[in-house]
Amino acid sequence: MMAWFDARRHEGRELTTFRDLEVGFLWHGHRISLIARNQGIWKPAAFAAALTFKTTAPKEGREAPYEDRIDEDGTLRYKMAATRDKEWTNRAMMLAAERGYPLAWLVGTKPANTLYYYARFPAFITGVDLENREFLITIGGDPDQPVDLSDIRKRAAEGIERKYVSRWTKQRLHQQRFRENVLSAYDMSCAVCDMPHAQLIEAAHIVADADDAGIPVVANGLALCRVHHTAYDKHLLGIDESRRIHVAERARRLEEVTGRSALAPFDGGRLTHVPERRALQPDGQRLRRHFDRFVDLNQGGLLGAVDL
Ligand SMILES: [Zn+2]
Repeated sequence: MMAWFDARRHEGRELTTFRDLEVGFLWHGHRISLIARNQGIWKPAAFAAALTFKTTAPKEGREAPYEDRIDEDGTLRYKMAATRDKEWTNRAMMLAAERGYPLAWLVGTKPANTLYYYARFPAFITGVDLENREFLITIGGDPDQPVDLSDIRKRAAEGIERKYVSRWTKQRLHQQRFRENVLSAYDMSCAVCDMPHAQLIEAAHIVADADDAGIPVVANGLALCRVHHTAYDKHLLGIDESRRIHVAERARRLEEVTGRSALAPFDGGRLTHVPERRALQPDGQRLRRHFDRFVDLNQGGLLGAVDL
């Protein structure tokens, strides 16, 4: 399962649809499905232990469900199934905990029109809070430490186990979240040229992210293809507050002289698309801050002499 997610991520297809997950993959001739309708916790038929658990799409206007789901120390609290007919899914989670099996957390996100899931893994159950009926889960971490449930039951009675998650893990999660939120908000295509190859689309920051541990803000991002991302970062291409595209004079000159073009055709045009929802649209103030720098650097033909 993790190899399958990894391979997809490598190809720029880390955002999956429900159907992708339902179809899953073949393993030794058996189809392994990774999700099912009306199941929070999922265990394929041939498995004894749980394989995935999911969080449904956040409400309209929210970017990610993380903030109220993850403790300050990085522990995810996941509610146990509450009804009797779903008790077997709790047992499947307990078994995964006892055996130290990694799981994948499937997070639904729908900033634009399509509901996508992305996977957080490996996720290890590090404790059970019986009082609040929650599984305590660490994303990342050590696969070789199965959980002794007798111990957990004892500790659950005393209080709540907490697990430290390194700042590194949080930063990595943050970057992934930013990428996934921006890409899905822009329907995985470049805002400048509209090219649709997900493998070539990147999440660009409009202004540098000062706090990597903070909430990833789609309004500080643009989905851009690799060429236009680099051109934007290097100030060969600027985007003003009204989302109009400007190409640096030296770049236009070069393309004129060589008779070849990559950026000039977009000069004076507008972004091909931005998310429909206002809160996800590129923030004007941030665009201006970036554009001011573009103007500074491109005034007086300075750039011809400066290698950026
Ligand atoms: Zn592009």
